[in-house]
Amino acid sequence: MEINDFLDDLTQREQSDVKLNQIDTFPKLVSLLLKRVSKENVAPLATLLKQSVLPSICIEIDDEIEHLFIKIDANPEILFEKEIQEKIEDFIFKRFEADKKLVVEKTSDISQVVTLMGQYLNDAISSSGNGSKNVLTIKEKIEAIDLSKNGIAELGVLQKQLVSAASSIENEMNTVSTKLKTGKSKVEELEDKVKTLEEELKKSRNESMKDHLTGLLTRRAYEEEVKRIDSNHKRNGSEYAVVFFDIDHFKKINDTYGHDCGDVVLKIFAKILEKATRDHDIVARYGGEEFVALVHFNLARELLQYLKRVKQIVTSNSFIYKNNKIKVTFSAGVTFRSSHSCYENAIQKADMLLYQAKENGRNQIKLEDGRTIK
Ligand code: GH3
Ligand code: MG
Ligand code: MG
Repeated sequence: MEINDFLDDLTQREQSDVKLNQIDTFPKLVSLLLKRVSKENVAPLATLLKQSVLPSICIEIDDEIEHLFIKIDANPEILFEKEIQEKIEDFIFKRFEADKKLVVEKTSDISQVVTLMGQYLNDAISSSGNGSKNVLTIKEKIEAIDLSKNGIAELGVLQKQLVSAASSIENEMNTVSTKLKTGKSKVEELEDKVKTLEEELKKSRNESMKDHLTGLLTRRAYEEEVKRIDSNHKRNGSEYAVVFFDIDHFKKINDTYGHDCGDVVLKIFAKILEKATRDHDIVARYGGEEFVALVHFNLARELLQYLKRVKQIVTSNSFIYKNNKIKVTFSAGVTFRSSHSCYENAIQKADMLLYQAKENGRNQIKLEDGRTIK
């Protein structure tokens, strides 16, 4: 038997080995044949192959591959069958494609959901309606999802829910911002009204403080000022005089020239008092043709100067009304605050001194120290 008679039964590679190594004896041929793949050394190869392919991310394909490898385990030689090899090749290709697709889908869905969640959770914080509640529910659902199982289908549902929650939040936000806008303009409107009212109130308060005819303090405003000045006196002993003025025979002026003329005389008289009175002193229309001034002074001389000045201005000038030159005089009573235990006593005494001045012939000022300015 010649070795060449067996050559056709050998594989291509074995035939070229025979030629290359000059195999010409049967023992040499046996050692070459021993290198052939056996059932035993194919089995671990099949296991390795299976491990490298399984498990995949895509579960449906896993089942088919598993099925094929059960067959190979039972009979590893079929690994050499062309049909089986093509099947494995096909599975590997399909598996990679499916895995790749799934990874792309899952990551894009997740990133979309995460972005949306971020956006709408922010909105939800500033909105308190149903939309925000919906988003919070959806957030809980997302946290509960097991992506390794049926993640994709659930993500799809959630995406729809998110979209509807988003639009309801949008509506709520619109309503809220409209409300805020109209609310703001309402507040501004009210603020304007309050401002106007405050100004009117201030104006009318100021007006009620000033006597309509003369512009001097009213009796009421005067009483308020007295409290302030008298509490200063009690605190730091600042001395002031209470001067009670009353126009002489004023009724006669009214009777002779008319009531309007009387008004003009009152106005001019008030102007003279106002001009003569310093900033920290006060002068008020006490009633009718009676006026009161509280005049601060340190030396009696200062007070006398003031009283004389007023008397001189009133008596040396004619009050003019419709070409009528009217002579006006007044009487006054003057007390010093520090000579009395309280303001009330001081004004009462000033009134008494005024009465004495009238009794004494009018057109004179009676001071409580006994002096009379004529
Ligand atoms: P006597 O010297 O004693 O003070 O006499 P008199 O006339 O000034 O005092 P009397 O109290 O008798 O009269 C005051 C008058 O002042 C009576 C009142 O009609 C008048 N009178 C009071 N208020 C006003 C006013 O606002 N305008 C005018 N025109 N007259 C007024
Ligand atoms: Mg009077
Ligand atoms: Mg009078």
